[in-house]
Amino acid sequence: MTETVAAIIWFAGLVGWFIIRRPFERRARKVRIRKSLLDWRERSLLGAALLGLFAIPAIYVLTGFPAALDRPFVPAVAWLGLVPQVAALWLFRRSHVDLGRNWSITLQLRDEHSLVTAGVYRLIRHPMYSSFFLLGIAQMLLIPNWFAGLAGVAGAGILYGFRVRREERMMLETFGDEYRAYTAHTKRIVPWLI
Ligand code: SAH
Repeated sequence: MTETVAAIIWFAGLVGWFIIRRPFERRARKVRIRKSLLDWRERSLLGAALLGLFAIPAIYVLTGFPAALDRPFVPAVAWLGLVPQVAALWLFRRSHVDLGRNWSITLQLRDEHSLVTAGVYRLIRHPMYSSFFLLGIAQMLLIPNWFAGLAGVAGAGILYGFRVRREERMMLETFGDEYRAYTAHTKRIVPWLI
């Protein structure tokens, strides 16, 4: 394992991410949106996630900036990064499949939106956000720079931290008791814990 191989693995994760998402994005375009909470706040949150998980590490890989915050490259640590990387992609795909036509990149309700409580949603309410965190952890282990390495977890944290309550409020307003019962026996991002 070298720094270059670790950077390639990091990049392959992003490519995998876009390949997984593409068909769902295309399908989603055909389903009418009934209600949308897409505003400047939502756009900024998506921007923060994209910056941390994509733009900042990409700049580091391409230019080495900010070199002052480099940490030693430890091959075993980079190898370890493969575990959350693979887990992230698996969970990202699974949650898209389980959410099906109810998926949106932002907070939206679709025509005939139904509450999904099966598949990975049986254990946690926000598996897609869990997969963002896993991707951020992989980035931290694969990229030997404190700033670029940690930017992913920070970006995922900002998106999750500022969005999750608003999303759950929207779901509660829409599904009422059904959602209340669902939240009673599920956690948000880590099964049985968080
Ligand atoms: N927070 C979820 C979904 C992210 S996609 C996750 O991390 O897996 C965001 C959209 O998914 C929101 O617009 C919301 O309408 C929809 N959504 C979230 N949870 C859902 C559920 N359990 N069933 C159906 N739709 C859901």
